[in-house]
Amino acid sequence: MSDKKHKTLCAYVEEELQVKDAKSFISLIQPATHFCEGCGRSVAKPEDVCKPKKLK
Ligand SMILES: [Zn+2]
Repeated sequence: MSDKKHKTLCAYVEEELQVKDAKSFISLIQPATHFCEGCGRSVAKPEDVCKPKKLK
């Protein structure tokens, strides 16, 4: 556990944020501008995923 400064959506999903706090989860993914090439999740901010790739 070395990097605690920024958590990615990928990590949040592993902790089931989408179940525990759907509202916060939705604020991370809307409006989606990028997606994660590593796990296929879409996000509003590229820094919130492990392998950001622009939509379109
Ligand atoms: Zn990812």
